[in-house]
Amino acid sequence: MTANLLLIGGGHAHVTALRWLQKHPCPDVSITLINPRTYAVYSGMVPGFVAGHFSRSEVESDLGRLCTESGADIIHDSIIALDPIRKRAMGQSGKSYPYDLASIDIGIVSAPPSVSGSKMHLTVKPMSPFVEAWAQVSENLSGGVAIVGGGLGGVELAFAVRHKMRSCGLPDTVPVSLVDQSKILSASSPSLRRALRKRLISACVGILEDTEVRGHHAGRLELAAGQSLTAQLVVWTAGGRAHDWLAQSGLKARNGFPVVAASLQSISHPDIFITGDAAFLQEKCVPKAGVYAVRQGPVLMQNMIAKSRGAPLQDFAPQKDYLKLVSLGKRAAIAEKWGLTVQLPGLWDLKTWIDRSFVQD
Ligand SMILES: Cc1cc2nc3c(=O)[nH]c(=O)nc-3n(C[C@H](O)[C@H](O)[C@H](O)COP(=O)(O)OP(=O)(O)OC[C@H]3O[C@@H](n4cnc5c(N)ncnc54)[C@H](O)[C@@H]3O)c2cc1C
Repeated sequence: MTANLLLIGGGHAHVTALRWLQKHPCPDVSITLINPRTYAVYSGMVPGFVAGHFSRSEVESDLGRLCTESGADIIHDSIIALDPIRKRAMGQSGKSYPYDLASIDIGIVSAPPSVSGSKMHLTVKPMSPFVEAWAQVSENLSGGVAIVGGGLGGVELAFAVRHKMRSCGLPDTVPVSLVDQSKILSASSPSLRRALRKRLISACVGILEDTEVRGHHAGRLELAAGQSLTAQLVVWTAGGRAHDWLAQSGLKARNGFPVVAASLQSISHPDIFITGDAAFLQEKCVPKAGVYAVRQGPVLMQNMIAKSRGAPLQDFAPQKDYLKLVSLGKRAAIAEKWGLTVQLPGLWDLKTWIDRSFVQD
């Protein structure tokens, strides 16, 4: 009998899972991908998109083509609930999707906590709506921009916004600020932190640490302790949390993120696999980075097929560290691995080549 495999979300892991299937066709499973759109944004190129180096179509993978080439079906819908007992996912369209095995790769939501004030907020995750909204607001940045969340993604966006402003002829007196409730880049190595902090200062990016956002009124971002700064637009990368419906699905979870075993199966519902940023990998400390999701894909697809056949599953073994190529706004990048940081002329080209290979593969 043909097993019905449902892939929820066109995230990085599902892209590489489908690419594995392209090379290893499997006639005894029927696969359906559910994603709101035909295209999925590749996050590694988003800072370059914000800076103006890439068009929207250059930073998106074509899920429709991928599904056709791997023998899968694609449905445009957004899942809003999961019933793991009756083995059904419910879509925003009102349709219900039954499955034998499901996999969830929907990333996270970066959402402001309760911040009062205007609607001039863009949340970076999910990325498709962010990319769409950026295309509209980026034409007028003269009122200043604040990026909330000083992780690597937030830092890259701060460089990118400054570059975009400069290329629009705006002077460096128009503020770009990076706000963090603790220290910026706290999860990065000391050498990378030092190198990026120095470059943020040269790019005239204001750094505000150990402070929380309270509100946003009349082009001013209000911070704790009565501080405020000029920012017409606020971009949120902080506050990454699990999608509400996933946190409420009944799967055993930690802080809303379903806990998965090394096989990528939910520890409470082994018919459901979860990958990428949406999962909490049991007993492993894996950062939320696309490289891990990308590498999970082939293991995920092989495990889903093995499970449908009653065969043994393999473990996903995350690498201990990965090469970080951090873009600096202009066509330049810094590289870091194992705590060693270098900046060389060809690094931007290397990053672009790696990123383009992923999107166009
Ligand atoms: C600015 C920035 C730059 C980054 N650069 C890098 C980098 O260079 N390298 C790196 O390793 N990491 C990078 N990251 C981190 C990276 O974005 C994430 O780790 C990665 O996107 C996680 O992939 P994912 O597969 O979990 O989900 P995502 O890539 O977030 O994809 C989720 C998909 O699920 C879909 N979806 C969401 N909800 C639903 C739903 N309800 N129903 C159906 N579909 C749904 C979305 O439309 C989307 O297509 C960056 C992050 C940011 C913010």
